[in-house]
Amino acid sequence: MADFDLIIRGVRLLQPDFSVLDAAAVCIQKDRIARIEGDPVTAAGLHAKTELDGRRKLAMPGLVDAHTHAAQQLLRGSVTDEMPMIWARILVPFESNLAPEDVYAGARLFCVENLKAGITAFADAGGPHMEAVAQAVVETGLRAAITRSTMDAGDFIPASMKEPVAQAISHTEDLYKAYHNAGDGRVQIWFGLRQLMSATPELVEAVAKRSQELQTGVHIHLAEHLDEVSHCLRNYGKRPAEWLDTFGILTPNLLAAHSVRLSDKEVKLVSERGVNVVHCPRSNLGNHGFSKTPLLMALGANIGLGTDGASGNRLDLFEQMRLLKSAMHARFGIEINDPLVMPALDTLRMATLGGARAMMLGDEIGTLESGKKADIILINLDAPHLSPTAHLPKTIVAAAGPADVSDAIVDGQLLMKDRQLLHLDEAEIRHQAGEALRKVARKAGLPLPIPDL
Ligand SMILES: [Zn+2]
Repeated sequence: MADFDLIIRGVRLLQPDFSVLDAAAVCIQKDRIARIEGDPVTAAGLHAKTELDGRRKLAMPGLVDAHTHAAQQLLRGSVTDEMPMIWARILVPFESNLAPEDVYAGARLFCVENLKAGITAFADAGGPHMEAVAQAVVETGLRAAITRSTMDAGDFIPASMKEPVAQAISHTEDLYKAYHNAGDGRVQIWFGLRQLMSATPELVEAVAKRSQELQTGVHIHLAEHLDEVSHCLRNYGKRPAEWLDTFGILTPNLLAAHSVRLSDKEVKLVSERGVNVVHCPRSNLGNHGFSKTPLLMALGANIGLGTDGASGNRLDLFEQMRLLKSAMHARFGIEINDPLVMPALDTLRMATLGGARAMMLGDEIGTLESGKKADIILINLDAPHLSPTAHLPKTIVAAAGPADVSDAIVDGQLLMKDRQLLHLDEAEIRHQAGEALRKVARKAGLPLPIPDL
């Protein structure tokens, strides 16, 4: 008789303290890790409906992309090496010409790319037609905190993308009613503020109030640009995080993407308030500058990592870990001769438990422990860049990439086995996304490349 729904046998397992348990059996019942057995003899007596051979593989928590944009999947290739203002010239025509079916097609491709890169959960900062993103997540099996980003101010925002406060709130509530806890609880709906230059104080206040009443999260781009700092100083006499604090919105339910242009005082403020900081090193190094990650860490802030979507980046959190480590070393480590200014395993924690906490799911995902949700990826260790090694977890940070992810389980469901998606037609999803890209490019009059599929 089967004791469990699924067992991964003989696998190396990354434990919460980053030690590795050899030849473990991971037993999954429904959506949760029911048992982790380290004794092979005892494990031999355990049975499941489905068995997965984990030999020569590492089981680790699914990666969490804590800041991304599913709706920008079809922008891939359109923003790299483009001159400013990308926002006005490319992003606005693109976003305003997206129909729900285009977002849906892009979001399905986005979910496929994520799964194949070992990203099992993501926090989406929002874009148009987020119901289509929520629907794609429900169907593809991933986990997500989805936001409808809202804007009601700013000369640089076209009228069609702005909405009055009451409407911004009620549209988010509609999405909340339709999709919060959908997909057996895999989808959460959050409130969103795109950024402070496109929000009136009334909108910030309403988002703070309603998100607290519904006990859900708020996702914002914060301290991303110097323009935003100038805007807050000029209009409110305060820096961005200081101004936000006057609304009582700096709480552990706030996910502050980027958080690059913070003063030391603001770093202390967001750390004290328990705000979740999410760095996107690839984006930050290209546009925003260096984050103050060592100071945030020293003050105990929770930090996650994000890809910022596929427009100019690969959905690759392994790359983000390495970039953050190198960037922090170059910026802060070298001048004080501190080789440990950004330890590898801290970046690994950010890409897993840090992101989970940022999604308000730290008790459910982010580590492999009995009782937690079964969001697990397996890394194929039969690779010259990964094995042999004297320290496997550090080598994962230093050398692993999306192509090394062989299997993915989300909410107890085996979604990818030996890099084959079990429930999704990858070729068809790419084809549909290509059709949508062609359509949007024509409608928006954008020099988007015509895909050759
Ligand atoms: Zn973003």
